[in-house]
Amino acid sequence: MAEKYQLHRDVYEMIKGTEEPGMKMTARWLGGVIRAVDEGKPILYHGFTSFSEIMVALDIQTLCCEAWDILGVQVDPDHVIKSVDAAHEAGIPPELCSFDKAIIGSIIREVIPPPAMIVVSLMPCQNAVIGYQAIGQLTGAPMWVTDTPYYMDEEGAMEYWLNQYTGVISFLEEHSGKKMDYDRLKEVVEESNRCVEYWLEAVELQKLKPAPRSGTIAVGTQAGITAFGTPEGTAAVKGVLDDIKDRVARGEMAVPDEKVRVIWFQLPVFWDNELMIWMTEMGAVVPFVLFDDYRVEPVDTSTPESMIKGMAKRAVETPMARVGRSDYNLVIEDVLYAVEEFKGDCVIFASHPSCKWMSGGFGLMRDACRERGIPVLMYDVDLIDRRVTSAEESRTRIEQFLTTVMAR
Ligand code: SF4
Repeated sequence: MAEKYQLHRDVYEMIKGTEEPGMKMTARWLGGVIRAVDEGKPILYHGFTSFSEIMVALDIQTLCCEAWDILGVQVDPDHVIKSVDAAHEAGIPPELCSFDKAIIGSIIREVIPPPAMIVVSLMPCQNAVIGYQAIGQLTGAPMWVTDTPYYMDEEGAMEYWLNQYTGVISFLEEHSGKKMDYDRLKEVVEESNRCVEYWLEAVELQKLKPAPRSGTIAVGTQAGITAFGTPEGTAAVKGVLDDIKDRVARGEMAVPDEKVRVIWFQLPVFWDNELMIWMTEMGAVVPFVLFDDYRVEPVDTSTPESMIKGMAKRAVETPMARVGRSDYNLVIEDVLYAVEEFKGDCVIFASHPSCKWMSGGFGLMRDACRERGIPVLMYDVDLIDRRVTSAEESRTRIEQFLTTVMAR
């Protein structure tokens, strides 16, 4: 007989014995959620821009809602569609981001375990703000919302943010009944520092031309979300780094005859894992994906204050949160940074329908790229709902664009 959360239980059964570091990291997290359900332990919901160190140090079982649904869609292509439809039927407007609609629908369908607590940052966009309000209402769980300053370099902004961030610890202590052990937090942050070091080194190697690997390194952000500060998270990122290093040592590149380098300024299309592999068949490599862009420094672990400050500074730099929480200049700057540093020949914006903070400024972006002679493709595709733009349509748009770029 099917049990509750059967889809995710099946995924766990499939991957739990694996030795592949990325899968092992996922199995650790998913197994933890399932055990928490079966043993009646509290689960904490958090958004994808909140990395997990504080929760790991407090030994609280985390459930990143967006990651739960992304994992579901890897196994059942209709998982997200069913949840989005359930949200629509409940009156959630179609304009809300499909990530948020999917979470709401998954709660309604009871295919995601209920939370005992929720922690969410007001990043990267207003969809998360309103989406998590609905999630809080539906589940009735107490929620801590960290309000994020628009400009971190304004007077008083960092103090304000630090206060907000520190509130996460107080909130979790209050609602879990646990007390932060700062020696344990130090161990966790030392581990996440190692993870970041490997992550940055892997991204750095992607700047090589020709590139050793094409597409997102993915496990970086996955580690941040589900396993930041755990040995499994660090091992997963190190696994990717070692693979890239081995490729470089062997002289093995993503595409033997690299014809064009594409800056993919968005998260991957999660339901279409083959897309970037297909692009390599055209001779196109993707050395940069927004999902991997986490330009941060190691956290100073000498005192509790220095750790909290370092983690708070990193927290506003998580992939997508960094560019989504401020004004459009930062988006343009980051696109130009990626083109320059990763030697991009062109930029593709996979325009997720609700990412209005990005598409609303496409005119400015087009002008900035045109001035510099950088070809751009902006096309609509939903990152988790495959009904908006089909895989075939994506390929047709991208093929036409890349053919033009290669003929230049
Ligand atoms: S940034 Fe885009 S994908 Fe992320 S929550 Fe907002 S609308 Fe959705």
